[in-house]
Amino acid sequence: MTLAPLPSSISPSKVSTFTDCPRRFQYQSIDRLDQPPTIWTLKGTLVHSALEGLFSVEPARRTIEVALRALDAAIAAPDGVAGLESVGLEGARRTSFLEESAALVRRYFDLEDPTTVDAVGVELRVDTTLTSTRDGAPVHLRGIIDRLDRNEDGDLVVVDYKTGRAPAPGRERARLAAVETYALLCERALGVRPVMVRLLYLAAPVVIERAIGASEVSRQERRTVEVWHAISRAYAAGSFRPSPGPLCNYCAFTDRCEAAPKALRLAASSAS
Ligand code: SF4
Repeated sequence: MTLAPLPSSISPSKVSTFTDCPRRFQYQSIDRLDQPPTIWTLKGTLVHSALEGLFSVEPARRTIEVALRALDAAIAAPDGVAGLESVGLEGARRTSFLEESAALVRRYFDLEDPTTVDAVGVELRVDTTLTSTRDGAPVHLRGIIDRLDRNEDGDLVVVDYKTGRAPAPGRERARLAAVETYALLCERALGVRPVMVRLLYLAAPVVIERAIGASEVSRQERRTVEVWHAISRAYAAGSFRPSPGPLCNYCAFTDRCEAAPKALRLAASSAS
């Protein structure tokens, strides 16, 4: 099988995608197949836009009303309209989807008071090159940090919003790995290591955070490089194996993946 070229860079979310399911990585990042939004990804995009809008105003004006107006603007924007059309929500299901999105935005305010947050960057694009590879080939790492804060001690904190379910107690580690990679990116791109990564799970609502030191950053660098080598090996072998599991329920490629649960494959085929 001849594959399209490997992407020239990797992001924390692509690392997670490959770790979760190599085949899904292939569909997304090598075959570059269209990935229409699902109701879950669309909700995440709209809520992220609302919080981005909230932090675009000065601290004293960061109210629920401002956040909800930003949500309405995201829903009415061309991408929001196209997304709602694509997921095919109508009538009561559409109303309930929009209410759930607004509820997530409101619940954000249960987690922190945005008027006290010193956000030094929002939707911050950062990139770097990792050179500590076995074969000497550099790995280009890039990503977008939801929010970068300065705490009361003047230190940086990486903040990531989550609209999905919070992990069960004891299972936070995998979720923290991706956001720790943002700490690595921040250290390399900005020259300052954040002292903390913080995940804001809006649905629960709950905050999961971890202090960051040199060892966490080194561990994520090793992990990123290892995943890149695994991607390169899979590419050379022309084989990105599917890894079916609960995430198939949220996968946009169930119509073409032979490992997708049969019920999901049939539902996707009848919808297309
Ligand atoms: S349907 Fe499941 S196994 Fe197939 S690509 Fe998607 S997540 Fe992977």
